[in-house]
Amino acid sequence: MAPSILGIHHITAIASDPQKNIDFYTGLLGLRLVKTTVNFDDPGSYHFYYGDGAGSPGTIITFFTWPGARRGRHGVGQVTSTAFAVPFGSLTYWEDRLRTAKVEIQERSGRLGRPVLSFLDGDGLSLELIETENPDVHRVWTGSSVPEYAAIHGFHSATITAADAEPTVSLLKETMGFTATGQEGNRLRLEVAAGGAGQTIDVLTLPSGELGRVAVGTVHHIAWRTPDDAQQLAWLELLDRAGYNVSPVMDRSYFQSIYYREHGGVLFEIATDQPGFAVDEAVETLGSALKLPSWMEPQRSIIEQVLPPIHRNQGVTV
Ligand code: ZN
Repeated sequence: MAPSILGIHHITAIASDPQKNIDFYTGLLGLRLVKTTVNFDDPGSYHFYYGDGAGSPGTIITFFTWPGARRGRHGVGQVTSTAFAVPFGSLTYWEDRLRTAKVEIQERSGRLGRPVLSFLDGDGLSLELIETENPDVHRVWTGSSVPEYAAIHGFHSATITAADAEPTVSLLKETMGFTATGQEGNRLRLEVAAGGAGQTIDVLTLPSGELGRVAVGTVHHIAWRTPDDAQQLAWLELLDRAGYNVSPVMDRSYFQSIYYREHGGVLFEIATDQPGFAVDEAVETLGSALKLPSWMEPQRSIIEQVLPPIHRNQGVTV
């Protein structure tokens, strides 16, 4: 049986100041900090995971924090925008909330029949809120200061920018099981599994677009959901046969991952739904303590000295 992709698992971007990142995503956007850990490949920097109350795959935006690092550039070969699903009719609430917080609003527009609010986080990361009919009510964090009628319900989609969309679209369609479901100008929409919020990716073609540069304020990679270890191994074999340079399976504590770069330049990951974020702390206290993988525990005191202090502000408007 062919392995399946269930949608977006998480999107990982780069931030500068860890505290400002927490304040923006929990205090302002109303996501829950579901895991406080370090970058497993660079334990001197934080890795924050934000999502719904349970940390469900498909709701998770994550950040590596690089204080003092330079800003990147949005462009070709990147995920250039990350869109969250919000309930129908809630964009006016959000526009007011973001303007009050002096967030840089880019535009309020429409895309494939849906209202979109585009804005930047404090590091210049491009975000969108897209009004979505019947968003999944299970993908929400009710403990925030955002009222439930406006709360973020996981991802809507993400946008990949390519100079030539063909190799990216071909991988998504021919190998990963996506179907093209819409087009608007130079934007092609593809959906996977049942489609809809969290199972949608747009590929934007900019033939003479400048190459992006991954640093602060840009997306580092996008991860796709697969149900379990067996399907992930099947993906590894299948992508290897298709000529992609696929990493071995990596233990990320909360999921298992493989990585490969698509021909348009975007780093893709396939991550398992299991075991999830409740594997090392209770759902009630997700994110409240610094969690380290077992192999880093002997260095905990050194790591804690290197990391800048943070306070978590769960549920508080900042
Ligand atoms: Zn990842």
